[in-house]
Amino acid sequence: MKNFVIAIDGFSSCGKSTVAKALAKELNFVFIDSGAMYRAVTLYVQQNNIDINDEHAISTALENIHIDFVPNPEKTQILLNGVDVSDAIRTMEVSEYVSEVSAVKAVRTAMVKQQQALGKKRNIVMDGRDIGTTVFPNADLKIFMTASPQVRAERRFAELSAKGEQLTMEEVKENLAHRDHIDSTREESPLRQAEDAIVLDNSELNQVEQLGFVIQLVQDKMELPKA
Ligand code: C5P
Repeated sequence: MKNFVIAIDGFSSCGKSTVAKALAKELNFVFIDSGAMYRAVTLYVQQNNIDINDEHAISTALENIHIDFVPNPEKTQILLNGVDVSDAIRTMEVSEYVSEVSAVKAVRTAMVKQQQALGKKRNIVMDGRDIGTTVFPNADLKIFMTASPQVRAERRFAELSAKGEQLTMEEVKENLAHRDHIDSTREESPLRQAEDAIVLDNSELNQVEQLGFVIQLVQDKMELPKA
């Protein structure tokens, strides 16, 4: 039987990963957070003092970057050259430059190739910005998530504060707006809604409601027996 691919795209801090993770667990699919891969590349660039404006240096560095996902009962670990960077890639320092690094053509080409390989022959849920448009244009189900900028900033602020990052709400809002702008206007596979994607605005929905919405879509597509 052909594998089933679910693509979830949308703006920063819309709760894509939360929905994708819960959905993958429910369906026993593999969850892949494509943003974590771009974050790992950014971390490498920062750790090695590579100028984020030097596209050539970033492209060359890709040869030395190996990213792996290690499924874990607790949470999937992301390894950068064998080192667990699951927490290190979530800092504001990485968030500040990840969109610039992600806009580099060679970075996108390399990541898209790896993402396509990860999605071969397996049932997957992958979240990101260009999954339904570029990585898996033939995905079985495409969801485009959105939420109001205020709701997104509040969620991100709470998440970062819980991790002990000292930031103002204004800084969080600026970072989201900055990333959305670069992600939507870059030349290579910009963030946009695929024509056949179904929109999920979760500004007013809790996690159970969101999961219910997407499970229903999957059931319709897979023609699974209704619960
Ligand atoms: O999903 P997350 O917010 O962790 O992604 C971090 C950044 O990685 C995004 O702001 C975007 O610049 C980049 N990204 C991308 N394409 C993807 C996933 C993430 O360009 N498929």
